[in-house]
Amino acid sequence: MSFADIGLIGLAVMGSNLALNIAEKGYKVAVHNRSAGRIDDFVREAEAEGLSGNTIAEYDLAEFVAAVKKPRSIIIMVKAGAPVDAMIEQLLPLLDTGDSIIECGNSLHSDTTRRFASLKPRGIGYLGVGVSGGEEGARHGPSIMVGGAKEQWHNAEKVLMAIAAKFDGEPCCAYLGEGGAGHFVKTIHNGIEYADMQMIAEVYGVMRDGLGMNPAECAEIFRKWNKGPLDSYLVEITAHVLDARDVPTGRPLIELIVDKAGQKGTGRWSAIAAQDMGVPATAIEGAVAARSISALKQERIKAEMIYGKPAYGQSDIALDDLEMALLAGKIVSYAQGFAVLQKASEENSWGLPLATIAKIWRAGCIIRSKFLDQMAAAYEKGDNVNLLMVPDFIDIMKKAHKSLRKVVAAGALGEYPLMCLSASLSYFDSYRQSLGTANLIQGQRDFFGAHGFEIDGRGEDLHFDWPPTLDT
Ligand code: NDP
Repeated sequence: MSFADIGLIGLAVMGSNLALNIAEKGYKVAVHNRSAGRIDDFVREAEAEGLSGNTIAEYDLAEFVAAVKKPRSIIIMVKAGAPVDAMIEQLLPLLDTGDSIIECGNSLHSDTTRRFASLKPRGIGYLGVGVSGGEEGARHGPSIMVGGAKEQWHNAEKVLMAIAAKFDGEPCCAYLGEGGAGHFVKTIHNGIEYADMQMIAEVYGVMRDGLGMNPAECAEIFRKWNKGPLDSYLVEITAHVLDARDVPTGRPLIELIVDKAGQKGTGRWSAIAAQDMGVPATAIEGAVAARSISALKQERIKAEMIYGKPAYGQSDIALDDLEMALLAGKIVSYAQGFAVLQKASEENSWGLPLATIAKIWRAGCIIRSKFLDQMAAAYEKGDNVNLLMVPDFIDIMKKAHKSLRKVVAAGALGEYPLMCLSASLSYFDSYRQSLGTANLIQGQRDFFGAHGFEIDGRGEDLHFDWPPTLDT
């Protein structure tokens, strides 16, 4: 029997599709799963796709490990969290020095850093890899964000490059840095994804409630936008979602889907990471908060009874302004996401290559878009500055912020919630304002806590002799 080029444990949706993708690219993959039923299903699927010759299905973990060529590269694609630790513990006694574990789930980056550090002294390379693109991506080409043990990455590089999505022939897969770098980048990808989706939903809300457009009319506009600067996977699928009809009733499916959004945690992790490092990421935070508010359906129903139905006025918003507002909001949210990546890179000494990250997001992943190609080119030209300071994006923002302003103003007066778009506008307005209002905050802080303030030319830790108040 010939050995497998790579092993893969975890044959649920993502793992089985990744394994079929590997086999299809001509590499031999050994597979294993805790419960035998999924292995049986995989064997049937591989047979149906004519890929059995490149797969080795093993029901016993030790036999699975023995079936992989040394130094072994073993992908784990199981539920994130404790199952990953359990799997590592079971694998360790079966591995040899120089082997590597490649964990491809949605793991918290600090878990990956911990696992990387604990396996390094034992001679086992640990790679934490973010994989984006869902089931379809896993099968036909995901975006792959690699972090962890650089030496062992080279053992699996050929396979991972082969299965990744391609943009103009370039694989959307790259090694990004040590420890949890890969999973951190995937987390921020998901944070940006949350913001992108939320802003699209907010724009749909303006179309539906303000402009009185039906789902098919909204779909038509998103389809049109997908041919311009907003060309992206998320805008494309939005048109499909808005067009879909419920089979039993024939009604637009969107009108039947309950307006409560789910979340698995990666958006929240991005917002927490941003807060932890003191990086403003208001669009991402707004998107996470909007999902949380959406979940409070019963409370929202009661609140509407108290405050009355929203007025949904201001129905004179131009569709061109909506398009530009979405573009401006999107630029701000990417600027924030990349600023978080930049800070995390400094704090963890990862040396994250921002242009490469933009490049490997151009295909395969959920936030893939034309816009990312432009962003990659911009980052490639110069320093890693905030995207709002990059010439190409300055040109767009100079025009588009006016549309964003019109839409947010109309939303405020017309009573449509625009949590993410308004957060983007406030960030932009705060970022481009040389004289802010934190002088007052500093005065207040010194008043109640003697925290000090700075006066140009007089020093940094100055205090004032504030008068006593009745309460103090
Ligand atoms: P799930 O997250 O649903 O996990 C199911 C798999 O985990 C099964 O193979 C299951 O084995 C295994 N498993 C669970 N607990 C254990 C354990 N204690 N020991 C061993 N195996 C265990 O699978 P998905 O394919 O959806 O996702 C896999 C990973 O990829 C997750 O981290 C997910 O967050 C991430 N991901 C998922 C995406 C998606 O679109 N679904 C997209 C991108 C990333 P068994 O069959 O025996 O129960």
